[in-house]
Amino acid sequence: MALDIAKATSHPFRKMPLLFQSVRGTKDILPNDAEILHDIESQARILFSAYGYGEIITPILEERDLFIRSLGKDSEVINKQMFIIERGQDLLALRPEATAGVIRAYLENNFNHIDALSKFYYFGPMFRAERPQKGRLRQFNHLGVEAIGSLNPLLDAEVISLADTILRKIGISGFKIKINTLGCANDKKKFGEKLRILLKSKLSLFCSDCQERFNRNVFRLIDCKNASCRNIIAGLKLKRQDYLCKDCFEHFAAVLENLKNIGIEYEESPQIVRGLDYYTRTVFEITHSSLGAQDALGAGGRYDNLVAELGGAPSGAIGFAFGVERLLLVSKCQSVKVSKKDLVFLITLGKEAEKEGVKLLHNLRQAGIKSDTDYENRSLKGAMRRANDLGAKHVLILGENELKKNMVMLKDMKSGEQREVKIENIVYECQRVIVS
Ligand code: AMP
Repeated sequence: MALDIAKATSHPFRKMPLLFQSVRGTKDILPNDAEILHDIESQARILFSAYGYGEIITPILEERDLFIRSLGKDSEVINKQMFIIERGQDLLALRPEATAGVIRAYLENNFNHIDALSKFYYFGPMFRAERPQKGRLRQFNHLGVEAIGSLNPLLDAEVISLADTILRKIGISGFKIKINTLGCANDKKKFGEKLRILLKSKLSLFCSDCQERFNRNVFRLIDCKNASCRNIIAGLKLKRQDYLCKDCFEHFAAVLENLKNIGIEYEESPQIVRGLDYYTRTVFEITHSSLGAQDALGAGGRYDNLVAELGGAPSGAIGFAFGVERLLLVSKCQSVKVSKKDLVFLITLGKEAEKEGVKLLHNLRQAGIKSDTDYENRSLKGAMRRANDLGAKHVLILGENELKKNMVMLKDMKSGEQREVKIENIVYECQRVIVS
């Protein structure tokens, strides 16, 4: 793979050009971001459990045909974006999304016989060979849920309210929930035929992407972001009443009523169509304007035919997935507070103090206190600067004088106050003063 020459040679600290770079469309998540991600993940876990969802961890590798059957051979993901691996007779794929694998696991592990309603959540990497740009990667992470076994519109409202609550819990504001219904498979078929008739004579006015999608997936012309395509679609004045059967119409009305009932704000948006075959009835997207062109933070919907499509009995189901890297982008943009543990930084002065310091640090860490030193034998001033750079809330200073008295100096970096504490009491004292 070709190196990005500018990146390989351009960093001011770099004396030698890089020999290797990350694969196009992949991204290293560095410690500061990883800490925010873990915080997001732990907040989400608390909510998943409060809503009665259990974690499922499915493999990244699945049979290629599982995705073709689930997402549809004409979908963009299958046509252009799957990473396929051929090993002897096996045709495998790196999962582009998790729903198909979760349903495979649900059937394989007989959840359909055990539980009337099964609720799962997951975290993990997904792979799509897309053209990389801001917020669009080839390897990215999803945080999502699947609830399988009910057609009740109350479940749609539960799942959408869970998505809304996760965002609020991690401190993200200013997002929009856009919601639509596609109707059942029969409604989708009728609507697709109607769209083809309406759009055929106007096709040359659409962008090249839309022209290509017309035969493969005509619904995608509705969610094109191109302004002139949008104008043509708006001119058609499509109304969902025109293509929904009575059951689907009532289902959608009940979903909206339930959302209102629990105070979830949403916008009805006929542009939301989702690109995958398995979606039926309720579909939704959650967007955030700070993301720019790729503004979807997350998305989901019902897939009432997928369980039957993969060999089970028909079962209503609904889920969603957030793009974790996009949650991170918005969190950073909005300076969302991360519940970091307070750091205690240890400074030792002299060889004897260094030896005692190693024991002290070990004891602090054994007690679960976030604590560090840098083994650099700096001057007190240099070490204090380092403690400050790391954001330490407290500093422990162990010099020869303190050592003789069996004491250590505990300094509060914010107030500047300092006092001596007996070495044997320091773990307890640190536990007392820090907010973990
Ligand atoms: P989707 O299955 O395409 O609806 O994806 C759900 C969410 O995953 C989207 O709303 C995005 O936040 C995120 N996502 C999808 N594709 C990518 C990608 N290529 N790179 C980064 N995030 C993505």
